[in-house]
Amino acid sequence: MEKKPFITKEQAESIIEKFPTPFHIYDEKGIRENARKLKQAFAWNEGFKEYFAVKATPNPTILKILKEEGCGTDCSSYAELLMSEKCGFKNPNIMFSSNDTPEEEFRYAKEIGAIINLDDITHIEALKKVGIPETVCCRFNPGGKFSISTTIMDNPGDAKYGMTREQIKDAFLQLKALGVKEFGIHSFLASNTVSNEYYPTLSKILFKLAVELKEETGVHIGFINLSGGVGVPYTPDKEPNDILVIGEGVHQAFDEILVPAGMGDIKIFTELGRFMLAPYGHLVTKAIHEKHIYKEYIGVDACAVNLMRPAMYGAYHHITVLGKEHEPCDHTYDVTGSLCENNDKFAIDRKLPKIDMGDILVIHDAGAHGFAMGYNYNGKLKSAELLLREDGSILEIRRAETIDDYFATLENYWDLI
Ligand SMILES: *Cc1c(COP(=O)(O)O)cnc(C)c1O
Repeated sequence: MEKKPFITKEQAESIIEKFPTPFHIYDEKGIRENARKLKQAFAWNEGFKEYFAVKATPNPTILKILKEEGCGTDCSSYAELLMSEKCGFKNPNIMFSSNDTPEEEFRYAKEIGAIINLDDITHIEALKKVGIPETVCCRFNPGGKFSISTTIMDNPGDAKYGMTREQIKDAFLQLKALGVKEFGIHSFLASNTVSNEYYPTLSKILFKLAVELKEETGVHIGFINLSGGVGVPYTPDKEPNDILVIGEGVHQAFDEILVPAGMGDIKIFTELGRFMLAPYGHLVTKAIHEKHIYKEYIGVDACAVNLMRPAMYGAYHHITVLGKEHEPCDHTYDVTGSLCENNDKFAIDRKLPKIDMGDILVIHDAGAHGFAMGYNYNGKLKSAELLLREDGSILEIRRAETIDDYFATLENYWDLI
């Protein structure tokens, strides 16, 4: 599908007068429309809820927009739990799906009434210490290979997450004996799937498991959490997932497996991150350097600290040169950042229109796992995050880091040197 920026060159130029590049910008209208479509896709399930994976875009303004659209949050750490709580998410609208979890984080999750999703059977010991909640979810890992696997996540058999089939039964029995009243099942088997089949395939596995576990343990299973993994097409040759088709596929599996087992009251939860935000965020950057050696390089003022996915996964992110949307892509460039790392390239051998210094580049699909994965290597600072509101105005929803932020953790050390 053709990739069109949600801002024009004129808009970008006027934004840059106030907020210098590089920055991330999010499209409120796109976020809201997509969230509504997801809700519509699962409207057949009365208890459906999307728990937005905070780690994808941990910004309070984004969380508030999603809250207004009826979403909860899915958290993986203390900071994310705290952010959700501060944004007004309340029991039972916070899910805590973490792994290798410190006991203090379980304690805090319990305190704020988050639904705790246990990654491992040994974590039951931690729950005994912080208090057994009424509702507990367990994360399942079926092992082996999964038919729809991608490069970001290993096959289930090689992934560190979740419990085996024997363990999850054992965990349910132990938790039942400890007084847990309601159970959930969670699983995350493939990341960034661009296929309408992922959720339906996963839900068949989890629905069958739910029927078996109910028979084997006698517990009440209240919800099934399909987690994240519905992806977006980063390359223009792919078609986006049709969430309505996906929702209908899960509906069919539900009617085939759960309803005949008398389990038609089960709520379906999702924990999407990328699908909710990726297409609705751009990283906006300026061309500041041009270099001709063995290849043609365009240096921009953003680098991998602003968007790590290309460096980390070799991920493709589409690039639009604003104002040159209709010019022929007759130049081949590597588009690079300034890190002292040769993998700091937003694009390699990319066909683009001729780029002039000062041109504004939009790097697409940066709304999830973009700013969030930022770091400070080479003393680089994290950019601002802006919101393009529905009325066309711009709101700064996180300021850019300053050099004082960078040195803040050294405050007490200057005296020592
Ligand atoms: C990362 C993550 C998500 C979100 O994944 P997306 O691919 O962004 O949809 C959901 N749940 C858990 C437990 C995760 O770790």
